[in-house]
Amino acid sequence: MYINPHIIFDYAYRLLENVTPVRKDCGALCGAACCADSDVGTGMYLYPAEECMLYPLPDWVKIEASGFYYNGRQAALMSCPGNCDRALRPLACRIFPLVPYKKPGERMKIIFDPRATAMCPLTPSDLTDKFKDAVTRAMRAVVKTKEGRMFIEAQSELIDEYVRMHL
Ligand code: SF4
Ligand code: SF4
Repeated sequence: MYINPHIIFDYAYRLLENVTPVRKDCGALCGAACCADSDVGTGMYLYPAEECMLYPLPDWVKIEASGFYYNGRQAALMSCPGNCDRALRPLACRIFPLVPYKKPGERMKIIFDPRATAMCPLTPSDLTDKFKDAVTRAMRAVVKTKEGRMFIEAQSELIDEYVRMHL
């Protein structure tokens, strides 16, 4: 069944609009390291069709094709100058440092992203239940679509590869 991506992302964005990983502003702990890193060419992958939430494209957003493929499609990579209109920040930023993880045929889990540990001083036990619950609900909506599921499964392979190489 086709689901308009705008409906899914609008739902996910609203769930995560005012929920943060910890009760305080964690950016004060680390100098907002996860935002500072995005202007060095790394950026955030957009979930399938998430670009629909970013038009008209604000001048602080840059979107380009990435080298990451899922289901034969090239994922879009978004980068920013390290500050943004919070209402427009993408899903990857809203859920950081959590990430969905799923193997084909298995249920999706929400994990602390191993790739975050290089920059983020938080640990899984620091995160509030409210944040974990909102991330879980948002990502359950995304994984229900075929493209969302394929993206999450392909991204999980990237995570596995990162763990093999770095941890
Ligand atoms: S790197 Fe971690 S602690 Fe720092 S702003 Fe990002 S989520 Fe918060
Ligand atoms: S879009 Fe916003 S939240 Fe995401 S990395 Fe850029 S400044 Fe940080």
